[in-house]
Amino acid sequence: MTGKTFTILGIETSCDETAAAVVRGFPPGPGQILSNVVFSQTEAHAPYGGVVPEIASRAHLEIVDGVIEQALADACVTLGELDGIAATAGPGLIGGVMVGLTTAKGLALACAKPLVAVNHLMGHALTARLTHGVAFPFLLLLVSGGHCQLLGVGGIDDFRLYGSTIDDAVGEAFDKAAKILGLPYPGGPALEAAARGGNPRAIDLPRPLVTGHNARPGADFSFSGLKTALRLQAQQQRLDVADASASFQAAVIDILTDRTRAAMAMFRADFPDVDMPVLVVAGGVAANQAIGAALNGLAAREGFAVRIPPPRLCTDNAAMIAWAGLEMLAQGEGESALRISPRARWPLAGKAPVGI
Ligand code: AMP
Ligand code: MG
Repeated sequence: MTGKTFTILGIETSCDETAAAVVRGFPPGPGQILSNVVFSQTEAHAPYGGVVPEIASRAHLEIVDGVIEQALADACVTLGELDGIAATAGPGLIGGVMVGLTTAKGLALACAKPLVAVNHLMGHALTARLTHGVAFPFLLLLVSGGHCQLLGVGGIDDFRLYGSTIDDAVGEAFDKAAKILGLPYPGGPALEAAARGGNPRAIDLPRPLVTGHNARPGADFSFSGLKTALRLQAQQQRLDVADASASFQAAVIDILTDRTRAAMAMFRADFPDVDMPVLVVAGGVAANQAIGAALNGLAAREGFAVRIPPPRLCTDNAAMIAWAGLEMLAQGEGESALRISPRARWPLAGKAPVGI
């Protein structure tokens, strides 16, 4: 494909990262990340063991201008040299989304550039095109603090939902399990580290929707029963933290691999002509090495290739928002985004026919 190269500023403020980045390229990628500034508010939220929305909004407001200035300076790009500005318009914590989107609208108006309102989940979904130039269609496992979904991605307007969590997101489950075990926030990385020295079969934990009396076909996830089972065990006996972490992580791996295997069959049914299908794993939990290894093993058995973006592009960042905006702009979308309102909820598969 030949085409114009776009240079896009991305702004991300939907949770507890204030981020701005400049990305250059053309679909299907890979693209060039000219800068990628991420200011994490983890310390501000740590005393509360989770993200406090009001603290997040204020922190975004205080720092967003400086983060954008830094991203432009690191990239050696001026506002005038941009082809457009992309900002997360949802889903997320509404106060934070308002800060980023309103800032982007002001900048776009001031420098007469197109504004692209980006779905945060689309940012995660398309990151593997920015990093690896992965062609459509591909199967996406999105595993983050707020989301757990399996989607068939046929194009930027074609998302087919194969499964999603019916309760907690997988990152949320890691964070809650870590809290039960007295590990520091954010819990995911701490629990993974603790699990390295533990026995994954030490504690008997359920695999909701996968095994037992409530097993269910399809690709939906459930994690709240697993977390509750861990809490009950912790109340009944003094748990070895390494063993409990390893057992919890093993249960999560069993759930993720079982549901991904089911979604692989749905993907093959939807896209029968794809010779070498690709599984893309995105979101903060994709940084987990044990999960990555298990998914690589599954993919090898099922004839899928795996693409996992590097950890700094798996957790929330603005390079993925800039890239998603770039893809939308390249397809002629985004011109009227000044009228778009921030959205707390914005399902990715809403525009497209739901798969199964
Ligand atoms: P995100 O929502 O995409 O910013 O990702 C943040 C979530 O990913 C949090 O819930 C973290 O606990 C989780 N997370 C980050 N690293 C890991 C890891 N190594 N293992 C499991 N979960 C992780
Ligand atoms: Mg995220």
